[in-house]
Amino acid sequence: MSGQNFDSFREGTLNALGLKGLNSGIFDGQWKDLKGRNVYKSSSPVDGKHIADLTLANREDFDSIVRNSRKIFEEWREYTAPRRGEIIRSLGDLLVRKKKELGALVTLEVGKTPSEGEGEIQEMIDVAYFASGLSRQLYGLTMGSERPFHRLYEQWVPLGPVGIISAFNFPAAVWSWNSMIAAVCGDTAIWKPSTKAALVATGVMHAVSEALSDLGAPQIFSLMVSRGNEGGEWISNEPGIPLVSFTGSTNTGRNLYQKVSSRMGRSILELGGNNAAIVTEKSDMNVALKGVAFGALATAGQRCTSTRRVIIQDSIYEEFVGKLQKVYSNVKIGNPNDPGVLVGPLIDGKAVKTYLDAIETARKQGGKVLHQGKSMKIQGLEEGNYVSPTIVEAKQDMPIVKVETFGPLLYVFKYHSFDEALKMHNDVPQGLSSAIFTTDIREEEEFLSARGSDCGIANVNTSTAGAEIGGAFGGEKETGYGRESGTDSWKAYMRRQTVTKNFGKDVPLSQGVKFDV
Ligand code: NAD
Repeated sequence: MSGQNFDSFREGTLNALGLKGLNSGIFDGQWKDLKGRNVYKSSSPVDGKHIADLTLANREDFDSIVRNSRKIFEEWREYTAPRRGEIIRSLGDLLVRKKKELGALVTLEVGKTPSEGEGEIQEMIDVAYFASGLSRQLYGLTMGSERPFHRLYEQWVPLGPVGIISAFNFPAAVWSWNSMIAAVCGDTAIWKPSTKAALVATGVMHAVSEALSDLGAPQIFSLMVSRGNEGGEWISNEPGIPLVSFTGSTNTGRNLYQKVSSRMGRSILELGGNNAAIVTEKSDMNVALKGVAFGALATAGQRCTSTRRVIIQDSIYEEFVGKLQKVYSNVKIGNPNDPGVLVGPLIDGKAVKTYLDAIETARKQGGKVLHQGKSMKIQGLEEGNYVSPTIVEAKQDMPIVKVETFGPLLYVFKYHSFDEALKMHNDVPQGLSSAIFTTDIREEEEFLSARGSDCGIANVNTSTAGAEIGGAFGGEKETGYGRESGTDSWKAYMRRQTVTKNFGKDVPLSQGVKFDV
């Protein structure tokens, strides 16, 4: 597709969603006017061209959003949970209808391929339907009381407005993992997206707020496009936001966590990953090759779950790495809209520089570059942020292999014994996703045992990337803590209350304590 074709794709996408020109990036039940605010200029990583402008929130906007969100929370928590679930299910239906347009917006602003862009909206739909079912399953436990004529149980109560700070690389899905679950729990949500993906957030909020209005439901979701450190700090320090769900880099998350915990607020922290796959001589090599290639190359290596390290048994090392190099030489890089393209651009020029610098650092630290990544120019899209992917043969004592580089940079390692592979696998500060490729049940089970993978996510014969919404999502160590989306992640969005009721004619005390008055 030429640059001209991309121009018409841009026009079509913006027109379809009514996002051309200047847009308000601030929604607190209604869109704030455009006057007198600073503006953020959004551009596409595909061709570097300007897309649209967005107003940035100031402190007064933030205060108004928090006040409003609290007010709406007081109304929303009175809805029964199943009714809340019906409303969220309708949002899922709306997203089904808007999947193509919103997916195209993800391609335009973030550079994902259409299949990945629409996949992200599909993830939102899946979460909406999951949350709807969940609305009838917010179960509390009932315990047998040690006292006669007493009932003892737990109930779950809504928390209040939840702050959602999201990263650029999942500009729509991460918001839904949090907001849809929070909503069925009875909470409202305040979204501060990455400015690098602010137009996607604005497009999503337009669609969702119109649907809520059509349903006659309260505007439970607000949006605040703001400068990252400014808006992020307001949320971190705001006592009216009892829970902050943060997705982003470890450094920013660490800083936020200190602020939120100093006011005794709660955080969910979904931070950087440094995910590895172990490929053993017992693996099905085609499965391993596909799983590793998808994990390392999809989204140009800009997934938190991207495969960054492959630990390969020495007996198959040469063969596997040879095959991987072939895949790297043939993979199509370029305009994500072009048929056959699997690797689109990096998000911006800074990301390109960080990536190229990391390759140089790896070389200086003793790594052998097996497939050299470079900055690339794509015809007709000369200002886009394209790079070719890199494979570096690495050693565990190279400091750079313990750092997340957000791009298609893959380190390959050789191992002899399985114990050695496990040790290398866990010897990084991050703990998000992991994978083993093997057909040997002993290796598989060891990988899943207490001395195996130390990550929040462990995969067997499939990629480190590409989680499903039904499982609880999150990591360990410097990846932070807390879980989002599936199973019982909902508990983070509610407060637990233990209830004891006495329906007898006396007041017997626990532990047999006597206090007769
Ligand atoms: P980032 O840390 O630069 O930004 C994340 C968010 O934090 C943005 O909304 C940004 O505006 C905001 N922010 C900036 N300064 C802030 C401050 N002082 N206080 C509060 N918020 C602030 O991350 P990014 O470059 O957008 O995203 C890439 C990173 O996110 C990678 O490290 C990736 O691994 C991680 N990520 C993790 C997960 C996960 O689930 N573990 C998912 C997606 C991305």
